[in-house]
Amino acid sequence: MNFELSEEQLMIRQTVREFAERDIKPLAKELDEKAVFSSELTKKMGEMGLFGMYLPEQYGGGGMDTLSYIIAVEEIARIDSSQAATLAAHNSLGIGPLYYFGTEEQKQKYLPQLCTGNALWAFGLTEPDAGSDSRGTKTRAVKNGDEYIINGSKIFITNAASELALGSTVQAVTGEDAKGRKEYTTFIVEKGTPGYTAVAMHGKMMWRASDTAELYFDDLKVPVKDILGTVGQGSKIMLQTLDNGRLSIAAMGLGLAQGAFELAIRYAHERKQFGQTIYSFQNTSFKMAEAATKIEMARNLLYKACWLKDHKKPFAKEAAMSKYICSEIAKEVADLGVQIHGGYGLMKDYDIERFYRDQRLLQIGEGTSEIQKLVIARHLSEEYIG
Ligand SMILES: Cc1cc2nc3c(=O)[nH]c(=O)nc-3n(C[C@H](O)[C@H](O)[C@H](O)COP(=O)(O)OP(=O)(O)OC[C@H]3O[C@@H](n4cnc5c(N)ncnc54)[C@H](O)[C@@H]3O)c2cc1C
Repeated sequence: MNFELSEEQLMIRQTVREFAERDIKPLAKELDEKAVFSSELTKKMGEMGLFGMYLPEQYGGGGMDTLSYIIAVEEIARIDSSQAATLAAHNSLGIGPLYYFGTEEQKQKYLPQLCTGNALWAFGLTEPDAGSDSRGTKTRAVKNGDEYIINGSKIFITNAASELALGSTVQAVTGEDAKGRKEYTTFIVEKGTPGYTAVAMHGKMMWRASDTAELYFDDLKVPVKDILGTVGQGSKIMLQTLDNGRLSIAAMGLGLAQGAFELAIRYAHERKQFGQTIYSFQNTSFKMAEAATKIEMARNLLYKACWLKDHKKPFAKEAAMSKYICSEIAKEVADLGVQIHGGYGLMKDYDIERFYRDQRLLQIGEGTSEIQKLVIARHLSEEYIG
């Protein structure tokens, strides 16, 4: 086992860290308060080469491994979850299915522009009545000659409504199999297509500077050539995409936990009560020791999951475990960070307040903690019982 990062991975960590500190940190608080999506920061992340990092160079990507990409997400989340959400959703949920399931023509058409930061792609799975149970999808696509007509809606879709949003991969029901089970198919749909409406959602407690949207499909016509994968392959495409997505959501949890930890330990060394720093109270330093240990544990599990993926080994169980533990540890460390800040931790002037809100989505998005346990438990049955 080699626990050392490569020269390239170390350089990515350093470069992305410097970028996040220099370009994102000064804006994070204001963008959060105003709930504004920043096209400028997204474009800058594109210029940094953070989009399509794991794609081959022939599609405009960086040709890097999964771990390099995950380190980049971790470093952005260490400073600001909203920008990390834009990055993670676009790479894993937007670019991912197009790269893994697209035809050569579809890849050539979309991937190069999606690697620039000038255009974002979304993943339209969740619906008002189909969240954890994605098989509850009601959006329907009916074949009519050489096109499909889609009607339905999606909710909570990241990167779907901003001026940079180019389109979305959409799951729809296209029929039933012989046993009466729904057949799902995924479609590539561009934003300007008649019948496709994207409406930004407001009033979020977290990720306030990321773009979250509702999508409405009203007799939306999509040519057969814009099916992603094959008819009936939709569920597989979406679920495999979520396996990959879990790694980046885990990286968001890890980065947020790291950022919250650093805010807390600095504050604990500055703040004095009873004539001494609050870090000198064993209650505080022991809590920080516990937090550092848990963060290290989470990092090791996530990096192992990335290693498995990069070595083409099964990684779905470890991805679910990483997503589960990193998001739960993010919650724990952000909460500890607020506690250590005392009353100041509840004020918007202090970054820890934003971290405390931002972590909350991590136990819900891309499969709740309960759903991760369901996935892990299924793998355990297969592994131990057969
Ligand atoms: C900011 C944001 C961004 C998002 N981005 C995207 C995106 O880009 N694309 C996309 O498709 N979706 C996206 N989502 C949707 C997200 O993935 C869903 O919110 C999530 O999957 C949970 O679905 P739900 O909200 O309908 O909750 P529900 O499924 O209604 O769950 C409610 C509660 O019931 C529990 N529960 C449900 N089923 C079970 C079970 N079988 N066993 C035990 N407990 C269960 C859940 O764990 C949860 O605690 C986003 C959501 C948010 C808030």
